[in-house]
Amino acid sequence: MTTFDVAVIGLGAMGSAALCDLARRGQRVIGIEQFEPGHDRGSSHGESRIIRLSYFEHPSYVPLARRALEKWRELEGLCGEMILTVTGILEAGYPDCQVVEGSLEASKQHGLEHEVLSAAEINRRFPAFKVPSHWTGLYQPDAGFLRPELAIRQFVRLAESHGAEVRARTRVLAIEPRGSGVQVKTDGGEIEAGSVILATGAWIGDFAPELKPHLKLTRQVLGWFEPLQPAHYSPDRCPVFIFESEDDACYGFPDFAGTGVKAASHRKGAYLSSAYDLAQDGGAADEAQSGACLPSRCRRRTDRSRPCGPACIRVRRTRISCSTGPLPIRGSFWRRPAQVMASSSRA
Ligand SMILES: Cc1cc2nc3c(=O)[nH]c(=O)nc-3n(C[C@H](O)[C@H](O)[C@H](O)COP(=O)(O)OP(=O)(O)OC[C@H]3O[C@@H](n4cnc5c(N)ncnc54)[C@H](O)[C@@H]3O)c2cc1C
Repeated sequence: MTTFDVAVIGLGAMGSAALCDLARRGQRVIGIEQFEPGHDRGSSHGESRIIRLSYFEHPSYVPLARRALEKWRELEGLCGEMILTVTGILEAGYPDCQVVEGSLEASKQHGLEHEVLSAAEINRRFPAFKVPSHWTGLYQPDAGFLRPELAIRQFVRLAESHGAEVRARTRVLAIEPRGSGVQVKTDGGEIEAGSVILATGAWIGDFAPELKPHLKLTRQVLGWFEPLQPAHYSPDRCPVFIFESEDDACYGFPDFAGTGVKAASHRKGAYLSSAYDLAQDGGAADEAQSGACLPSRCRRRTDRSRPCGPACIRVRRTRISCSTGPLPIRGSFWRRPAQVMASSSRA
């Protein structure tokens, strides 16, 4: 039986990146994924992800985000593909809202370039948006979006080119100590490794039951909207955005692939009892939820008291993904530094 230095379990964004890095360092690694890498049943699909430095959740994210930017550029250099597009980020909301205030604090603490904008300045500078006159905003130019499915495919391909073994459609059933290492039991046999990285995202509770009571799995609905004035929503004119209103926070992306303007709620999502329950079963209720995030505002195109992209009104499609809620470590939801890492780094 081959013994590996490290077995990486789960090849979503986290696991595929870890596998690639270890393989490039000369480690004997194996990556095990229950579906195909790049599948649509976890947390890492849906065409785009925001990358931002000015973390409103907590300033302590900023050094991590800076390092992540470097590593994404490194991946692009290694694979020759464009994975990251810099658009800047516009964060806006009602006075003193968490998104704007938190990002401003993070920007100041870490010396990030940023501009504080009034509603009039936002509406003049970015024709995609019409925010209410009492809102304020923050523009940070180093942010943008990543293409997650492409990134996963490239991480896996690069890992394999550095000698990593990849087993797709293989489910890990148990991990047990064996001598100074571990034995990984899968539905396709057993694997011995010196250590294991658990990057199983929303499935982490299967291996660390003590975390289960602290995890909130949610079903996240993503919507793509048809722009009527596409020129306003191209990546050179429309930054990625997060808007905080009194009842929700919505984030979105320019139409970079001709698939529409993507937008979703940052806060809403029905609870799931198991990540296996997630399905791409979007229906009318999901379209309504998406609609509440952006198009309902857009339909009121002449009402300048509502935040909106003036020209996107039709839901083009919806996608469903899975999110592992933050571990309740301390503080309120919005100020929890462990939020992003919780799904894959606790075991
Ligand atoms: C809707 C949504 C929007 C987001 N937006 C952003 C954003 O804009 N910016 C940002 O930075 N972050 C964002 N995030 C967070 C980010 O996408 C996630 O942190 C990241 O994708 C998590 O990756 P992961 O590898 O931990 O999980 P996953 O991608 O879910 O990967 C876990 C993998 O483990 C596999 N697995 C599980 N159990 C087993 C087993 N027993 N055997 C074998 N394989 C197994 C699964 O099949 C899966 O492929 C968002 C998340 C969601 C859900």
